[in-house]
Amino acid sequence: MNKLTEVLEGISTVAIAGHVNPDGDCVGSCMGLYLYLKDNYPQIQADVYLEKPREVFHYIKDIDKVKSECEPGQIYDLVVLLDVSSRDRIGVAAPLFDHAVTTVGIDHHITNDGLCQINQILPHASSTCEVLYDLLEDEKITEACAESLYTGIVHDTGVFQYSNTSPHTMRVTANLMEKGIPFSNIVDGSFYQKSYAQNQILGRTLMESIMMLDGRCIVGIVRQKEMEFYGLTSKDLDGIVSQLRNTEGVEVALFLYERSFQEFKVSMRSNDDVDVSRIAGMFGGGGHVKAAGCTMQGSPFDVVNNITLQIEKQLTEEE
Ligand code: AMP
Ligand code: MN
Ligand code: MN
Repeated sequence: MNKLTEVLEGISTVAIAGHVNPDGDCVGSCMGLYLYLKDNYPQIQADVYLEKPREVFHYIKDIDKVKSECEPGQIYDLVVLLDVSSRDRIGVAAPLFDHAVTTVGIDHHITNDGLCQINQILPHASSTCEVLYDLLEDEKITEACAESLYTGIVHDTGVFQYSNTSPHTMRVTANLMEKGIPFSNIVDGSFYQKSYAQNQILGRTLMESIMMLDGRCIVGIVRQKEMEFYGLTSKDLDGIVSQLRNTEGVEVALFLYERSFQEFKVSMRSNDDVDVSRIAGMFGGGGHVKAAGCTMQGSPFDVVNNITLQIEKQLTEEE
């Protein structure tokens, strides 16, 4: 697939869907495609299916049109999955995916092995928004669509900080900026700004973090009772793992939060040599070489022991 128009021929209904617990890239790419279709293909009925996006993305046009439930028996001509690396990550639109006439996947996860009929997966791309941009025609991108795509690139590159940022990422970003978007407000409002409670849990997690493997691995853990105490949901924990990763000497940052009794969501970030997508894959998750995640059962000690064993293996392989 060179351009998205190739798959839009003869299509009258499109469902756009992202992954569970949608992040900036997921929301940005889904809404970016939705706005693009609304603006340029008024004859197509397009709907976006996502778990309720975080309030920080309120500036994205038509974000209130997002559907968080699908009607039973509904069938779309085309289902487009954005930023979704595997079947079990589809979220609210899973029944639509199963019954769609045609399915298209646009993604950048190295662990995506092509779950759709047509797939555009570029593991070296910074974000799904970058992959999507290249499938669209620049002159058809409005300011509102550009705002949404820019959001995704900013979030998945950590504001152009991570090594997934390429010269091409910057060129795409420059083209989006040409549309006149309020880029500085987007970065501050959706990425950097934290609520007081979010800062409290960040501070507390850093303060109670543990160094392992001779200072090459740092571990942060949030238990359910702490989330209840501060009145937080999982969405409030975004960014903690990146802050852990910034610690001097650390190769891998591990962040766990307790989803339910003896069940932990694990986030991993690596600085250089460790491929965390391989480790996440071993435990049923996935992601990218330097950013990956999975869900694991057991006590936090079991989870940390199982993962650090794999990190240690990779670190010693290299020596
Ligand atoms: P997170 O640590 O949740 O921010 O995720 C880091 C990266 O790994 C993201 O690109 C996610 O899409 C991916 N990821 C996280 N959890 C999972 C999972 N359970 N299965 C597959 N990929 C995941
Ligand atoms: Mn994502
Ligand atoms: Mn992404």
